[in-house]
Amino acid sequence: MGSVLVVCYCLNPAVVTSLVSVVSFIVPEQFGPLSFFSSLLCQTGWTVCLSGRGARGIPFICEGLGLKMSQRCTLSVTDPRDGKRVALKKMPNVFQNLVSCKRVFRELKMLCFFKHDNVLSALDILQPPQIDCFEEIYVITELMQSDLHKVIVSPQPLSTDHIKVFLYQILRGLKYLHSAGILHRDIKPGNLLVNSNCVLKICDFGLARVEEMDESRHMTQEVVTQYYRAPEILMGSRHYSSAIDIWSVGCIFAELLGRRILFQAQSPIQQLDLITDLLGTPPLSAMMSACEGARAHVLRGPHKPPSLSVLYMLSEGATHEAVHLLCRMLVFDPAKRISGRDALSHPYLDEGRLRYHTCMCRCCFSVASGRVYTREFEPNANGRFDDQYERNLSSVWQVKELIHRFITEQQQGKRVPLCINPQSAAFKTFIR
Ligand SMILES: [Zn+2]
Repeated sequence: MGSVLVVCYCLNPAVVTSLVSVVSFIVPEQFGPLSFFSSLLCQTGWTVCLSGRGARGIPFICEGLGLKMSQRCTLSVTDPRDGKRVALKKMPNVFQNLVSCKRVFRELKMLCFFKHDNVLSALDILQPPQIDCFEEIYVITELMQSDLHKVIVSPQPLSTDHIKVFLYQILRGLKYLHSAGILHRDIKPGNLLVNSNCVLKICDFGLARVEEMDESRHMTQEVVTQYYRAPEILMGSRHYSSAIDIWSVGCIFAELLGRRILFQAQSPIQQLDLITDLLGTPPLSAMMSACEGARAHVLRGPHKPPSLSVLYMLSEGATHEAVHLLCRMLVFDPAKRISGRDALSHPYLDEGRLRYHTCMCRCCFSVASGRVYTREFEPNANGRFDDQYERNLSSVWQVKELIHRFITEQQQGKRVPLCINPQSAAFKTFIR
């Protein structure tokens, strides 16, 4: 066995702090000297360098300074088992309190549950150290070059074809999540990863949860980045459904068309005001679940007529078909808002579906006589995500043991495990 030490450093000395995080992969002998590890550049501008000895004793030189890995930092690394570039995501400070470890456990379980091309899933989880030293979790996922936020703010032109194929994939991924009974609860452009082929994957399940069927049970309102937050959450509704994710998609659709945030407010109240400016004052029936104060705020103001025609001015791509679908997503009353499944059958998305399944998907394939299409263009999940295990979680130590066992079980017999090893010889050489 040889070990390799990965150190993160940044080229900007202004942000250099002390080394706090070192990742060391243990690599089995048969993979030989790890020369492809010489220098890697990751997404966020961090450079990853290596130190240590490869399997056949070839030393690696470590350059640069140690740097604090940001919260939930994702690094681009090379998997030493097959040489493929993958993303390594660090989940730090997992075991600070019961709430944070339950949330991380849920996210881990979801990442291992997902099997859909438009939803990010875990390719692997690095083997945890002994439970006494177990503080951080590292997940390996597919590497995606960018996200929709970066695309929208970039100068790169976005054609109608781009918008259609992005929107199709967002809804295709959401339909899958909703069919598993999962609400994402933080759909925003930054959580929609894209690669250079325009394949899109929904990521970040830190706020995701299983849909609550019992309307008497309260759900937290501390969800969804404000600009993409559905009116029922802004109005303090104690119970909400998958319709909150569709509202966020509507906001993103408008943002793709107009290249600017649709409802960019300074506060939740102003957020609600901007929404009613566009949609008009909602009828009382659309505010049934709202809290008293929010309802009073809306009714106190002047009666506003809807001004949806301004959506045609978002861009040239805001055709009648586009605005029609957009207006079905941006419906104030969640009960009347279009579902992901119904949105996918809107004619606006026909071209996106065709493009995706002609040259981007992994569910269809080409033969000499043409393309063989899958039977189900937008598949549901194989059953609902089961969160019953959460009912019996009562202490940090208990969840820690369960997560430890879960990760170990995930790996059994599948692939040669990779692990974090801060006590490795490479680490000691480095700190000397
Ligand atoms: Zn396909």
